[in-house]
Amino acid sequence: MNTTKNIAILGAGESGVGAAVLAKKQGFGVFVSDFGKIKEKYKEVLDKENIEWEEGTHTFERILGVTEIVKSPGIPEKVEIVKQAIEKSIPVISEIEFAGRYTDATLIGITGSNGKTTTTMLTYHILKKAGFNVGMAGNVGDSFAYQVATEDYEYYVLELSSFQLDGIVKFKTDISILLNITPDHLDRYEYKFENYIDSKFNITKNQKEEDVFIYCKDDEAILTTLPKKNIKAKQLPFSIKIEVEQGAYLNDNEEIVFTHINHPQTMSIHDLALNGKHNIYNSMAAGIASKVLDLRKEIVRESLTDFQNVEHRLEHICYVNGIEFINDSKATNVNAVWYALESINKPIVWIAGGVDKGNDYEELIPLVKEKVKAIVCLGVDNSKLVEAFGDIVDVYETNNARDAVKTSYKLGSKGDLVLLSPACASFDLFDNYEERGKKFIRAVREL
Ligand code: ADP
Repeated sequence: MNTTKNIAILGAGESGVGAAVLAKKQGFGVFVSDFGKIKEKYKEVLDKENIEWEEGTHTFERILGVTEIVKSPGIPEKVEIVKQAIEKSIPVISEIEFAGRYTDATLIGITGSNGKTTTTMLTYHILKKAGFNVGMAGNVGDSFAYQVATEDYEYYVLELSSFQLDGIVKFKTDISILLNITPDHLDRYEYKFENYIDSKFNITKNQKEEDVFIYCKDDEAILTTLPKKNIKAKQLPFSIKIEVEQGAYLNDNEEIVFTHINHPQTMSIHDLALNGKHNIYNSMAAGIASKVLDLRKEIVRESLTDFQNVEHRLEHICYVNGIEFINDSKATNVNAVWYALESINKPIVWIAGGVDKGNDYEELIPLVKEKVKAIVCLGVDNSKLVEAFGDIVDVYETNNARDAVKTSYKLGSKGDLVLLSPACASFDLFDNYEERGKKFIRAVREL
């Protein structure tokens, strides 16, 4: 084996296995190592491609003998194997850095604390409708690397988490979208908000003059950081508070105005498929990207109007005796809940709780006072919720989806809305947010 072309992949999930398949195709000697258990479906892919792998351990000598390491985003830098690799000056890169080397496609990268999946799917939807040969990678479907290995797309819409952006060196997107920055995942950033902000801004790091940077002009963290960064890309901001010269803003008639030179256009927010203020932002961002790619007005309008909402994100389930049920299980931080509560104009029974990620509930207090009639906790330890809201509304504790739904239903009356929007991770009671959402829906259907 050519020792100058040996690569190790740490973590055999979607992105790791994709990177392994691509590396193999590019002629690298590939070794995949996962400290946990590898899912059967991924083992099958690796075996089929004749890629060596190990699970439940990291064989240090072997991993530290390669010329480059691709680390899955879920693995923190502080784990021993990564520390030693860095000490030995072995480059540790991310899957997107690796895959980016092997494609000439136009890349649209989307990041932010909230709204990545929605905006990625929305942008993909518009491009698809316009007839582009486009792939999408991120939270759903095959990884970017796997698609680069097996497909021949001319465009990619990429959802980029801060963990993926941490591991980039030369990777760049032609169009970058930064939706918002609010505290999240701080445990991975030494509890320093600045570090997390820097990670998000990596999406602009390698951009050149001919590239485009689309960002939210109403976001405080973005605005205060922007002047400190040497951004070369053309900036196209969006705002619902102020008029912008090039980008998108909201006018007094509740219309989005796209002011970008290519096909200026206005569109009523009441025609948008997605409701809520946060989705005006998401629609603006996706719309600007489409304008940059020179898409026709009709396509942009139609796509923003007929997009089907993504599951577990403010997903309307049904009415039971006049009480509406909404599943927002993906709302795993306070900011996402803020937008959920803000967008609803009915008395709310709010189901919240789970694994607290260092939440500060202060900013929700005005909305809770105004709109929430009761809180039903769904978590093992609900003390922070009780403490934050116990003096404002009645707080009930439950520890499974069925009890949470039954309790909420009893508390509600005709015209009310039961909202699952937890502000927390799900791991105390569920495998992930999808399972939490599905169990909620099942319990609603059983009422
Ligand atoms: P991400 O992929 O960044 O986690 P999602 O599109 O999956 O984002 O949405 C996660 C949660 O955030 C959902 O509850 C959704 O309703 C809410 N959300 C979506 N877009 C935004 C936004 N621009 N700002 C704040 N919250 C948002």
